[in-house]
Amino acid sequence: MKREFGINVFVGMASTLIELVRKCKAGDPEFTIDKILYAGQPMSAADRQWLKEACGTKRIVSIIGTTEANQLGYQCERLEGAFHHVVDDYNWVEVVDDEGAPVPDGQLGRILVTSLQKKNFPLTATPSAMRAACSRQPCSCGRKDRVIEYEGAGRHPRDRYDERESP
Ligand SMILES: [Zn+2]
Repeated sequence: MKREFGINVFVGMASTLIELVRKCKAGDPEFTIDKILYAGQPMSAADRQWLKEACGTKRIVSIIGTTEANQLGYQCERLEGAFHHVVDDYNWVEVVDDEGAPVPDGQLGRILVTSLQKKNFPLTATPSAMRAACSRQPCSCGRKDRVIEYEGAGRHPRDRYDERESP
């Protein structure tokens, strides 16, 4: 099917994509995929390395978001692991403490989301289960979108970005 339709990108949850690529590779040892766009859970360094080496994957990108607000963040070509640009012209992201007060840059807190594009069902300072820390360090890609260090959505610590071992 990949050859028939010229597929060069897979999009989905990390664990589902890894399982899909492993099945494709098992069925066709020459299988390659150029780009992987994943969300919903971290991808291990071992899985990323395997994709690059065994499947010729050139870009592996994480996005973060919520069901209600859609996309909150993305990784440019320079960001990896927990670091994501936020999409401030789509959703305004704030990081706050347990009482709702803004936390200083670099300090972990809970993400609040205000939708800037959704007119029919807007979200205003809506708390999420996701935790992150804001960074004021500009990204070397040159984009002006803020950068956050994304911890995750209150999962077990073993699911945090860059700490999960490959199965
Ligand atoms: Zn960047």
